[in-house]
Amino acid sequence: MSPSGAEVIRQIKSQIEEVDPAEVSEHLGNGTVLVDVRESTEWDAGHIPGAKHVPRGHLESRIEGVAGDRSQRLVVYCASGQRSALAAHTLQELLGYENVSSMTGGITLWKDRGYKVEVPRSLTPEQRERYSRHLLVPEIGLEGQTKLLESKVLLLGAGGLGAPTALYLAAAGVGTLGVIDDDEVDLSNLQRQVIHTTDGIGTPKVDSAERAIKALNPGVDVVKYQTRLDASNIMEIIEGYDVIVDGVDNFPTRYLLNDATVRLDIPVVSASILGFDGQLSVFKPHDGPCYRCLYPVPPPAELAPSCGANGVLGVLPGTMGLLQATEVVKLVTGAGEPLVGRLLLYEALGATFTELKVRRDPECPICSKDPSEISDDELGVFPDYEAFCAAAG
Ligand SMILES: [Zn+2]
Repeated sequence: MSPSGAEVIRQIKSQIEEVDPAEVSEHLGNGTVLVDVRESTEWDAGHIPGAKHVPRGHLESRIEGVAGDRSQRLVVYCASGQRSALAAHTLQELLGYENVSSMTGGITLWKDRGYKVEVPRSLTPEQRERYSRHLLVPEIGLEGQTKLLESKVLLLGAGGLGAPTALYLAAAGVGTLGVIDDDEVDLSNLQRQVIHTTDGIGTPKVDSAERAIKALNPGVDVVKYQTRLDASNIMEIIEGYDVIVDGVDNFPTRYLLNDATVRLDIPVVSASILGFDGQLSVFKPHDGPCYRCLYPVPPPAELAPSCGANGVLGVLPGTMGLLQATEVVKLVTGAGEPLVGRLLLYEALGATFTELKVRRDPECPICSKDPSEISDDELGVFPDYEAFCAAAG
């Protein structure tokens, strides 16, 4: 006769280790990975702070995403300690995890003992519908969508790169989008700056961008700066943003932005375009190189797009801007591997992508310092720009 379900659970429990909530609470954050194996609705109703969510039905396929090292200490919990016992058994016997335990009594006992439970922010029915395709992606889910809704992203420029980036970040539900641009919409912009329309010609780009963002997603808070970023306003403007998207076409602003963001520890997703070529990288202060590590001196003036009107394939800023938007979503949600320490080159005519490794310069005048030691005088040090452009002939 086959054993009863209760008998099977008893047998399994005898083969695994169980730990008391008191012990789990004591070791939280000490390198122990806490895994919640309940269903999504249970997780959304409240879970242990810092826990990772891997529903039992997805255990085999998703556990490596939260615990790649099989010798790592894992504690698994559910509602009452039954499902987590089964999950711990699977992890130990089938998946080779060496140090797994199941928490006795599950989150029910945890709560009864008065330990803290975190209830994720819930979405309105409208938001659930709007972001339903994000909620279905495990790497984003409710947690990632909540992070997006709470994030503040600043766009430098509502031009070729800023236009597609702004639209897609608005669509993705970034809560606050700051837009800096002192320019007005011109007919020659419309070949690529898809956030603006023909009837917007002559109006400030920040207003035109705001209209398009609000039409797409009224939930986004748009903060407009109709100005040029310079040494006098940069610290005040950028402070408080989580990520900055750099689509500016002039080098002095790039250096200034780099120095200020290293000082404030804000990651920058940077792209540039010329002709049929695009470049992209993420400068995450102290995690990877900064812009000055990569370009200790400005490139030759004849390659500086802002020194004059240069031609560009209209769809190219779309491609590069959407790669920027993708990196922003990754930085905000923590999904995947951001493009830190890597420079991605795209050549549209040959349809080739090339990736170069870039390293931090230990002698870098900016990021080798402690951020508090970067003085105002050092921000944006750059050769005289008129002279720089004049050298281009
Ligand atoms: Zn550096």
